[in-house]
Amino acid sequence: MQNTDYYAILGVPRDASTEDIKKAYRRLAMQYHPDRNSDNPEAEDKFKEASQAYAVLGNEEKRRIYDTYGVEGLRNGGGFQDFSFFSDSVFSDFEDILGNFFGFGSMFGNSRRRRGPRRGQDLAMELNLTLQEAYDGIERTVTLQREEACPDCKGSGSRPGTQPEVCPQCSGSGQVRRSQGFFSVTTPCRMCNGSGRIIKDPCETCRGSGRVKGEKQLSVKIPPGVDSGNRLRMAGEGEAGHAGGPAGDLYLILQVQPEKGFSREGHDLIMDVEITFAQAALGDTIKVQAPSGTEQIKIPAGAQPGQVVVLRNKGFRNVNGWGRGDLRAVLRVRTPEKLSREEKKLFQSLRELESAREG
Ligand SMILES: [Zn+2]
Ligand SMILES: [Zn+2]
Repeated sequence: MQNTDYYAILGVPRDASTEDIKKAYRRLAMQYHPDRNSDNPEAEDKFKEASQAYAVLGNEEKRRIYDTYGVEGLRNGGGFQDFSFFSDSVFSDFEDILGNFFGFGSMFGNSRRRRGPRRGQDLAMELNLTLQEAYDGIERTVTLQREEACPDCKGSGSRPGTQPEVCPQCSGSGQVRRSQGFFSVTTPCRMCNGSGRIIKDPCETCRGSGRVKGEKQLSVKIPPGVDSGNRLRMAGEGEAGHAGGPAGDLYLILQVQPEKGFSREGHDLIMDVEITFAQAALGDTIKVQAPSGTEQIKIPAGAQPGQVVVLRNKGFRNVNGWGRGDLRAVLRVRTPEKLSREEKKLFQSLRELESAREG
């Protein structure tokens, strides 16, 4: 079993500041880095564990998801869009920290450490829905603040009309090979910072980075039947890539607002329905407002409090496949708080009848 208590792994309290989390991770990473523990296979596991914990807790958005939904919120639990949260883009989060104190010998190798084209960061966003919206599905417009490809240079970082040049030092590979005695060491090219390209004439809008802060209105379609914790992946709607790399993805994390008298079990919708003594005793057919519309509910004579009347196929749509769940109407017998004179008389004679029967 993998340890997924990320706070325990890093040895920090749940309300630790981002700075404390970073410090704790640095300490563990220094201690367990494979380069320093070549004779200790457990160290590598510890190192990976700490790195994974930091990948989540070191990122504000992911930490919030983890705090709210646990590790399942980050993985494929319950969602219909599986994804690998620990993707390459996550590594870029902490390779910057690692790079600062491990130099070129980092476990991520030069291919990860180079500053060439890199995939943009994934983004996560919470989306609140009412029960009715979750039931019907909905189209929503969300506003995203994100790094976008610079519109003037199309993300190349080079002034419009010019092209970045291939680095003459490394011939565009971003890496140079040096011989040290018997060994040959590959390091990121210094001339181009590992990107393999040289921008001689940077774009003014983005100062050569190829990215600008932007705001985007995005129309998203939420399919019917979604539940809290479900995630929708929108490929390529995350942050723009670096140096012409592909954009990251956007994950919408759905949150369905609880509504009094309603609950959910799988695809079944459970709904409280209030009925009177007389309806419970004699049976009745009543109309109720359900998310599916006005529904008729047949109360059997002699219905008991908590008894369930099932309406087939009136529950939530199955987002993964075919069909619908059921609507389960739970009968709640309401005791009248105020009685009219006539009602009081009727209940009194009912009580007399009951005591006569029991006596
Ligand atoms: Zn630009
Ligand atoms: Zn170069």
